[in-house]
Amino acid sequence: MRIGIDLGGTKIEGIVLDAGGIEKARLRISTPNSSYEDDLAAIIGVIGDLERTVGARCTVGIGHPGAVSPATGLIKNANSTRLNGRPLHRDLEQLLGREVRMQNDANCFAVSEASDGAAASCPIVFGVILGTGVGGGVVIDGKPLTGAQAVAGEWGHNPLPQPRDDERPGLRCYCGRMGCIETWLSGPRLQAEFERRTGRRMRATEIADAALAGDGPAAEQIELYCDRLARARSVVVNIIDPHAIVLGGGLSKMKQLYTRVPELWKQYIFSEPDRIVTKLLPPKFGDSSGVRGAAWLWPAG
Ligand SMILES: [Zn+2]
Repeated sequence: MRIGIDLGGTKIEGIVLDAGGIEKARLRISTPNSSYEDDLAAIIGVIGDLERTVGARCTVGIGHPGAVSPATGLIKNANSTRLNGRPLHRDLEQLLGREVRMQNDANCFAVSEASDGAAASCPIVFGVILGTGVGGGVVIDGKPLTGAQAVAGEWGHNPLPQPRDDERPGLRCYCGRMGCIETWLSGPRLQAEFERRTGRRMRATEIADAALAGDGPAAEQIELYCDRLARARSVVVNIIDPHAIVLGGGLSKMKQLYTRVPELWKQYIFSEPDRIVTKLLPPKFGDSSGVRGAAWLWPAG
């Protein structure tokens, strides 16, 4: 059996999957947020509790923010910055006395959806997180693509393609660069832009619902969002040409994305516009994809 752990800033969630991908146990605790050592102890505790519940020693996969640097073995790029510079992988393997597989949390989302989720049986899958941040992961034949720097799939920190005059130079991103895709497509940015234009303070999904109900300014805002997403995705399609793109994160609930973006990206993708077969899909497992994907880092059987 396979344990998957989703290490988040507010919670640590664990799951046990059997060989068929059926959930056998689940556990969720608050992240201690006191020290790195306490986080480590909490992860080990969750794994111990899950193994006692199912009565078996399991494989362990961990989804975490940021990436394990191939150069140093230390965590980098994590928004839970307490982890950055820490040898999380080595420490967990030492404490557990076994090999542990670790991947960025967006990569785990992509692995889950590519294994038995929305994009099951698709050879090349790009999992996209649209939430307070914008991330992603690439899965090829069921395996996450990590890459030389372990940043494969981090499209959120590329600049917005084909910027209009009023989209230049864009905002400064927390990463220090100007006009990152994340500064255009994150939930907070969509909300802020809508508020600046209309004076109305609404969450991203509320704006999308209002647009569907016939609210003109909301519809205009969502159309703009879809066009930016289409531009940003077209670059990715031209490079890795995925069979499926699965959206996750809070903004994946915006229904318009699945109809408008495939219509809009026809003008940006370098292929016959009416024969684009890349599917844009909602997630099957939603919030559970992180833990499931971490478990799937060890394939069934
Ligand atoms: Zn950035």
